[in-house]
Amino acid sequence: MTFGERAYLPGLAKGLSITLGHIFKKTATTRYPEEKRPFSPVFRGLHILNRDEEGAERCTACGLCALACPAEAITMEAAERKPGEEKLYREEKYAAKYEINMLRCIFCGFCEDACPKDAIYLTETVMPANYNRQSFIYKKEDLLIPNPKNTDSK
Ligand code: SF4
Ligand code: SF4
Repeated sequence: MTFGERAYLPGLAKGLSITLGHIFKKTATTRYPEEKRPFSPVFRGLHILNRDEEGAERCTACGLCALACPAEAITMEAAERKPGEEKLYREEKYAAKYEINMLRCIFCGFCEDACPKDAIYLTETVMPANYNRQSFIYKKEDLLIPNPKNTDSK
């Protein structure tokens, strides 16, 4: 070995040239959460329960979404609409309780595909982190979009 090789000079020069080469390249780091990367067009995030044009809940608690769910993440309880509640619920049956366990959900979108009422959609919203398991059980109140006809309640 020459003196230069024994002093690691070629290795140092090679390492520095690699470093200098990367300094002027476009950075691959995303400064999350200030910066967000664009998602794939097929990304599926948190669910919403939709309403019709009049603001009535679309879901009729038919259970098809729960049946289609491979992760058994959806549970619901059906109830019957009472006279005078036509503006709240689109059809005679509605979901008195509707829950999705997001820790089970694999965001496959089968529930959306199975719904005959266009009631459930997966949005581009990323599920936020949380501190306890209970917070990942999204209830109907969390999923249902606000009623555009009535801003102070359902
Ligand atoms: S996205 Fe898939 S796993 Fe999640 S609730 Fe819907 S059907 Fe179940
Ligand atoms: S979200 Fe759709 S499929 Fe699921 S219970 Fe409601 S109407 Fe049926």
